[in-house]
Amino acid sequence: MRLLLVEDEQRLASALVQLLKEHHYAVDVAHDGNTGLDLALTDCYDLLILDIMLPGKSGLEIVRAVRQHELDVPILLLTAKDTVDDRVLGLDAGADDYLVKPFNNKELLARIRALTRRTGNVTGPDTLQVGPFAIHWTTRTITRNGQTLSLTAKEFQLLELLIRNHGKVMSKELILDRVWGPDADVIGNAVENYVHFLRKKLDTPGQPSYIETVRGVGYVFRVRDNPAEEQT
Ligand code: CA
Repeated sequence: MRLLLVEDEQRLASALVQLLKEHHYAVDVAHDGNTGLDLALTDCYDLLILDIMLPGKSGLEIVRAVRQHELDVPILLLTAKDTVDDRVLGLDAGADDYLVKPFNNKELLARIRALTRRTGNVTGPDTLQVGPFAIHWTTRTITRNGQTLSLTAKEFQLLELLIRNHGKVMSKELILDRVWGPDADVIGNAVENYVHFLRKKLDTPGQPSYIETVRGVGYVFRVRDNPAEEQT
């Protein structure tokens, strides 16, 4: 597993490299945006970890350039600015997830694991298995531990989108666009309402939801075999 870290704060960069190496990742580091982008475009990484505020090109500019080159490498943004704007811009530019500094090492490692295994297991021409969930496209059904969930057409579309992108924060705008279409005439809180319907069908009272709310941004589907055990 080969990672690229672009971070201009030398002490943080060194600490992260050490951490990642201890966890058996190969890591390349760049301390400015231009070097980072050159490396990112070599297309030999399993994950990019990008600071947003960088000398030269910003993390957001790197994300846009990488996606313009049609590289689908997962991207995790690191940001000191806990503003909704930056997060939404980053996700809309094509980043997959973000962490707000200061973050703890466990959280970083968990996000890296989620992003690098995000594709799930294609167990047949028609089926994607993600944790206890399986999406069956031909029958347009989703099962959990083999039990078919009872879903309306819209609920299927929304849940399929969330599961396929598990571990990745999906902005409300992106969800609206993918599930309801760019020209849809949607009234009010369609996304919120449908997330609410899905939670009622999926979640166990008293345990954390599979569909986590990212306030001011959107939602992220977290795969948990046992929601109670993963809550920290
Ligand atoms: Ca920085």
